[in-house]
Amino acid sequence: MLNFSGEDFDVIVVGAGIMGSSTAYQTSKRGHKTLLLEQFDFLHHRGSSHGESRTIRPTYPQDYYCSMVLESYTLWEQAESEIGYKVSFKASQFDMGPADATNFKALISSCRKNSLPHQVLDKAQVAQKFSGRIHIPEDWVGVSTEYGGVIKPTKAVSMFQTLALKNGAVLRDNMEVKDIKRDGEGGGLVVFTSNGEKFRGKKCVVTVGAWMKKLVKTVIGVEIPIQPLETTVCYWRINEGHETDYAIGGDFPTFASYGEPYVYGTPSLEFPGLIKVAVHGGYACDPDKRPWGPGISLAALKEWIQGRFSGLVDSAGPVATQLCMYSMTPDEDFVMDFLGGEFGKDLVIGGGFSGHGFKMAPVVGRILADLVLSGEAEGVDLKHFRVARFNENPKGNVKAFEDQVGTFQ
Ligand SMILES: Cc1cc2nc3c(=O)[nH]c(=O)nc-3n(C[C@H](O)[C@H](O)[C@H](O)COP(=O)(O)OP(=O)(O)OC[C@H]3O[C@@H](n4cnc5c(N)ncnc54)[C@H](O)[C@@H]3O)c2cc1C
Repeated sequence: MLNFSGEDFDVIVVGAGIMGSSTAYQTSKRGHKTLLLEQFDFLHHRGSSHGESRTIRPTYPQDYYCSMVLESYTLWEQAESEIGYKVSFKASQFDMGPADATNFKALISSCRKNSLPHQVLDKAQVAQKFSGRIHIPEDWVGVSTEYGGVIKPTKAVSMFQTLALKNGAVLRDNMEVKDIKRDGEGGGLVVFTSNGEKFRGKKCVVTVGAWMKKLVKTVIGVEIPIQPLETTVCYWRINEGHETDYAIGGDFPTFASYGEPYVYGTPSLEFPGLIKVAVHGGYACDPDKRPWGPGISLAALKEWIQGRFSGLVDSAGPVATQLCMYSMTPDEDFVMDFLGGEFGKDLVIGGGFSGHGFKMAPVVGRILADLVLSGEAEGVDLKHFRVARFNENPKGNVKAFEDQVGTFQ
């Protein structure tokens, strides 16, 4: 006979980053008694969801993300109106890349297929549109759309946790889940923590970010290919007199640059006078034995800043950096699925967000809640996100654009 900690729950969510917090918000909002467990302090900086800015954009080479991002815009707004403050800022989005790159061509065709209003611009048109603040090489093109934006990550996690709490969820931090088992007596699940507590729930959602591979291996003995990666966010000083030219609230966009390296950034917001420009990539790591730097080589990024921003941003070196973790799948597509085995449809996992999941957290929470509560999710083709894809092909989903994936070191 096990002694359980407190009451029984309908849903236990393990991992309180943005995905777990958004899922707990969804299940509690639908009237299900929810418990959210986190191994560290809430809002800690050792996972993937902390910091000051994340880009939201529907422009993707994979056409199936566009509708998920568009749904997320609506869900972000809904949550903001429930809490009464903003976690997102409007901006346009500008993607740029070599005209002959297959991933960039796929991005343009995805915009067309999804009827996303956009403009394709050549070098001269880009210089004109951004009044000389962005320059692209002769053989590149740019894609401009009004659909961009910046989300404040730590504030957004806090928002979903607060809303979950208001909906009656129980939130417990410093609770490291060490195992999950079938409950022989009750038919549900038992979640065990390393400090000796046991929680009983009918269903469970696991959203443990970079720890997914470890926890899944413990629970079911299977290794799913989710590789933790340490990445570095860099902030660069905008030259004096040009600070407002690159600031949020004007016409400077959130941006992504295809080609080698893949570079992304947001307008100046969190640190006035500084702009975030970073490389999508990093070093494989054990999330429990982090190297905490040094980051990736900055030579290519410095050259990129010098070339694209016409000398208006100081490319000598970043003035501030922050470390963070990615959870990479081989195809950089998410994992949203049932764990299966003896758990059937009672245990759902959401992970492998591969450095681009934050923007879609509201729809991910909606989908994970749908899956765990009803066994299916509407409005999304889950075949892209199944674990079984790696059994059929270790590289996962086959992409027509090999240059898109495997960018991490
Ligand atoms: C530098 C950087 C920039 C990014 N930029 C963008 C961007 O511009 N746009 C975008 O859309 N996305 C972006 N992303 C990706 C996005 O931030 C992630 O996809 C997202 O935060 C993943 O959230 P998560 O909840 O899966 O993981 P996490 O935030 O890591 O949450 C998992 C949680 O589970 C907890 N946990 C782990 N194991 C256990 C356990 N055994 N028991 C209990 N708790 C446990 C962890 O402590 C952690 O709090 C970026 C990521 C980084 C690092």
